[in-house]
Amino acid sequence: MFGKMKFVASSMILIGILLLLAKVDKTFNLYNVPYILIILGIILLIISLLATNQEKSLLCRIGLHKYEQVGRDSEVKAMFIYKCERCGKEKKVMKAF
Ligand SMILES: [Zn+2]
Repeated sequence: MFGKMKFVASSMILIGILLLLAKVDKTFNLYNVPYILIILGIILLIISLLATNQEKSLLCRIGLHKYEQVGRDSEVKAMFIYKCERCGKEKKVMKAF
C-alpha cells in the first residue's frame, strides 16, 4: 500500500515540476496547482517513508530497539553478531577488551 503511495507522491512532485517548467499556468490558469502538487507530494512521500521500514531502522539507529548477542563472527573472533529483537536486523560489533 505504501509502495503505491510513494509512487503517487513522486508522480505528483514530478507533474508539479513539469507544470512549473512548462509554465502552463499562464495558458490554462492553473494558479498554484504546481506548488500544491509539489508540496502535497513531498508530504505524502515523507508519510510513506516514515510508515515503511525507514521508521524501524531509524528507531533502531537511535537505540530504541534492544539488541541481543546471537553469536560471533567465524573469521574475526573480536566481531560479535547482534540481532535486533524487534525487526530482526543483524549488526556486527567489534569488541576489543
Ligand atoms: Zn530494530
